[in-house]
Amino acid sequence: MKYDKNTTGAKSGNDMENDTRFGGANANRRHQGGSTLKQICPHCGAVATTRTTRTITPLFRELRFQCTNVEGDDVCGHTFVAALTIERTIVPSARPNPRINLPIAQPRTNRTALASPAG
Ligand SMILES: [Zn+2]
Repeated sequence: MKYDKNTTGAKSGNDMENDTRFGGANANRRHQGGSTLKQICPHCGAVATTRTTRTITPLFRELRFQCTNVEGDDVCGHTFVAALTIERTIVPSARPNPRINLPIAQPRTNRTALASPAG
């Protein structure tokens, strides 16, 4: 949920320094980290953010969301639970868990993207 700059172990490879060379104002919007999911509140349409998550099985989690519309005259405050199910594999794990049995997604026709050289 919360992450600060001193957290080590982030593997994204992108440091968030005030570097706006690529993307300008949009650069910040792409950096939402991996742990904050957003949903649209079904009642008022505002953004709702995850408060807690609960792992039920390795393939199923419950996410508790809270609507961010909690101030002003038009307060919503809806809190709700959503379900997150892992449904299929796109790229197989290099360390597969034998207990996890997921169907493989149909490959797209454009598979060359995987092999494109960097640079
Ligand atoms: Zn709402």
